[in-house]
Amino acid sequence: MLEGLDPEQREVATSLRGPLCVLAGAGTGKTRAITHRIAYGVRAGILPPAGVLAVTFTNRAAGEMRGRLRQLGAEGVQARTFHSAALRQLQFFWPRAVGGELPRLLERKVQLVAEAAARCRLRIDRSELRDLTGEIEWSKVTQTVPEDYPAMVAKSGRLAPRDPAETAKVFALYEQLKRERSAIDFEDVLLLTVGVLQDRPDIADRVRTQYQHFVVDEYQDVSPLQQRLLELWLGDRDSLCVVGDASQTIYSFTGATPDHLLDFRTRHPGATIVKLVRDYRSTPQVVHLANGLLSQAAGRAAEHRLELVSQREAGPEPVYTEYADEPSEAEGTAQRIRSLVDSGVPASRIAVLYRINAQSEIYEQALVDAGVPYQLRGAERFFERPEVREAGVALRSAARFGGNDTLLDGAVGLPSQVRAVLSGKGWTDEPPAGSGAVRDRWESLMALVRLAESLSAGRSASGGEEPTLADFVAELDERANAQHAPTVEGVTLASLHSAKGLEWDAVFLVGLTEGMMPITHAKSDAQIEEERRLLYVGVTRARFHLHLSWALSRSPGGRGGRRPSRFLNGLRPGSSASGAAGRPGGRGGIEHGSTSGGRSRKRRGPVRCRVCGRSLTDPGEVKLMRCEGCPSDLDEALYERLREWRSERAKQLG
Ligand code: ATP
Ligand code: MG
Repeated sequence: MLEGLDPEQREVATSLRGPLCVLAGAGTGKTRAITHRIAYGVRAGILPPAGVLAVTFTNRAAGEMRGRLRQLGAEGVQARTFHSAALRQLQFFWPRAVGGELPRLLERKVQLVAEAAARCRLRIDRSELRDLTGEIEWSKVTQTVPEDYPAMVAKSGRLAPRDPAETAKVFALYEQLKRERSAIDFEDVLLLTVGVLQDRPDIADRVRTQYQHFVVDEYQDVSPLQQRLLELWLGDRDSLCVVGDASQTIYSFTGATPDHLLDFRTRHPGATIVKLVRDYRSTPQVVHLANGLLSQAAGRAAEHRLELVSQREAGPEPVYTEYADEPSEAEGTAQRIRSLVDSGVPASRIAVLYRINAQSEIYEQALVDAGVPYQLRGAERFFERPEVREAGVALRSAARFGGNDTLLDGAVGLPSQVRAVLSGKGWTDEPPAGSGAVRDRWESLMALVRLAESLSAGRSASGGEEPTLADFVAELDERANAQHAPTVEGVTLASLHSAKGLEWDAVFLVGLTEGMMPITHAKSDAQIEEERRLLYVGVTRARFHLHLSWALSRSPGGRGGRRPSRFLNGLRPGSSASGAAGRPGGRGGIEHGSTSGGRSRKRRGPVRCRVCGRSLTDPGEVKLMRCEGCPSDLDEALYERLREWRSERAKQLG
C-alpha cells in the first residue's frame, strides 16, 4: 500500500491519528497521498470504511477519488462533494427535524430575484440582475443575512455593484418570496444542513456516530459555510485530514480563503503538518512556467507558495501561438490536436481549457471538422445521461430474452451483441456528422461499446469464457453504483474551474487575452490575483505538452485590438515582465497560427443553454447562449455545482 509513495507522502499515509494538514503545490501527489492514507487506514483496521467521509468540490473529483479508492481495495468509503454529502443528510433528517418532505429546489432563481427587485421598484437590466443575484449568492455562502449585508460589504472591501442598502432590501424580499413558495435554493442546502446540525444535537450526534474520520481534498477552497459544516460533523473530535494548495484558491467568490488552510495549526495546535514539493505530474518545462507565473503573484497565498521541483524527464517547451481571430485559433488548435492524435496520443489524454463555457462551441465545431472526438460533459454524470439510461433498459431486456431476442440474431460474442442492441437505439458504426447533442449521445453509446470490447478482451486474455449480456449488465450496474464511468474516448473541453485536480498529457489553454484572462469583471487586485491562480491551475494540468494561445480579434477581418494576457508578460518569448515589449507582432518564439481566410462559420445544430442544456430558440437567449432564467457565467463555479446538484437531485428522484 505504501509502495509508490515518497517519504513525505508515506508520512501522510501513515499519520492516521489526530489532525493532519498537507500543504503542497499542484501535482505533488496530495490526492494520491490521501487516497492511499484512507486505504492504508482501512487495511490496517484503524479506519472503518463506513466511518470515513472524504469530501471534495466537484462530482468529477469525487468520482476520481472513489475510483482510486476502489482500485486500492477501500470500497465503502463515502467520497462526495460537500453538497451531495449535505443533501443526503438533509433529505434523511428533514422529516424528523422539520417534518414533511424537503422543499423543492428553486429552478429559476434569477426570476425570483427579478420579481423581488421589481417589488422594490428597482429598474434593472439583465446585467444588473446578474450582479444582484451574484451578491445574494455571495451573501448566502458567506452566511450573511440581509440586514448585515451592507456592513459585510464595507468590512470585506468588496466592490458592491450597487447601493448595498438596496441590495439588502431585494435580498430580504427574495428570501421571503422563496419561503412563501416553499422552495429552497442551491445555497440553502448547506445552510439548512448547518442549521439542522446546530439546532438538533440529537441529529448531530447521529451523524457523528456514523462518521468518525474526515478527509478534505482541495481545502484551500473551503467556504466559511463548508468549514462550519465540517466543524459540526467533527464535533469535539480531531480526526481530520485536510490537503490543499493556497496557490490554487479559485473560488473566493464563494467566500473561500486560503486562511482556513494556512491557519490550520492555529486551530489545531497538535496538528501534524506535511509539505510536499516534488512534482510528479509535469515536465520541468511546464513546472518552470508554473513557478514563473506564481513568482509574479501577490497576496497571502503567494507568500506561502511552494516552489515546485519536477521529478519528470525533460519534455517539449510550452508552445505560444498568436492567431489573427478566434475561428483561426479554434481551427489551429484542432489541427494541432489532430496531429497529436495521429502521432499516437489518445484523444482522452488531451484537454482544451477555457475561462468561460461560452468559449466551448467554436472548439466543438473545429474538432468535428478535424475529425477528432471530444467530450464536453464530465464523465461523472455518465450514468445519468438519458441515452445511457435508455441503453441500460434495452440491454437489460435483451439480456433477459437472451437468444430469443431477434435483435441478437447472428451476433458471434459480447461486443457485437451490444452493438446490435445499441443499433436499435440509433447507434451507428461511424460518428454522426455535426457537433452538439447528437454527437454527445453517440459518444456515450460508443463508450458502452468500447466497454464491452474491453470486457471481452480481458476475459479472453485471462483464458475465461466470453462474457454474456447479463454479465455486461451486471458490470454496468456495479459501475453505476460506484459512479465509475467508462472512459468516454475524446478530447475534454472544460472550463478552468472544472479542471481543478485533473491532469492530461496535453493541455491547450485557449483564449488567453486581456478581458478573458483576466476576465473583464475582475477589477480589484484580489480578483486579478485569483485570475492568475486560475491560470496556474490550468498550466499545472499539463503532464507533457502545453499550448497557450490567444487571438487578436474576435472574428475574421476584425479590428485586432486584443492583447495577450498580462499574466504571460515576462514568460512568453519576447515579452518583459512589465509587458512593454510584450506587444503582439512576430517576436521570436511565438508561433503565428494560420487564419481561416475570413471564412465565417455556420453554426450546426441547435444552440443549447450552457447552464441547463435546453435547446434555445428565443433570439435573445440564443445570443447569450443561456436561458433567461438560468444564471449567468459570472459565478462559473457555483453554476458548475448547481448543475451537479441538479443531477444529484434528479438521481435521487429516480
Ligand atoms: P492537484 O494540486 O492538481 O490536485 P495533487 O497534488 O493532488 O495535484 P495528484 O493528482 O495526487 O497530485 O498526483 C499528480 C500525478 O503525480 C498523478 O498522476 C499521480 O499518480 C502522480 N504521482 C503522485 N505521487 C507520485 C509518486 N510518489 N510517484 C509517482 N507518481 C506520483
Ligand atoms: Mg489533487
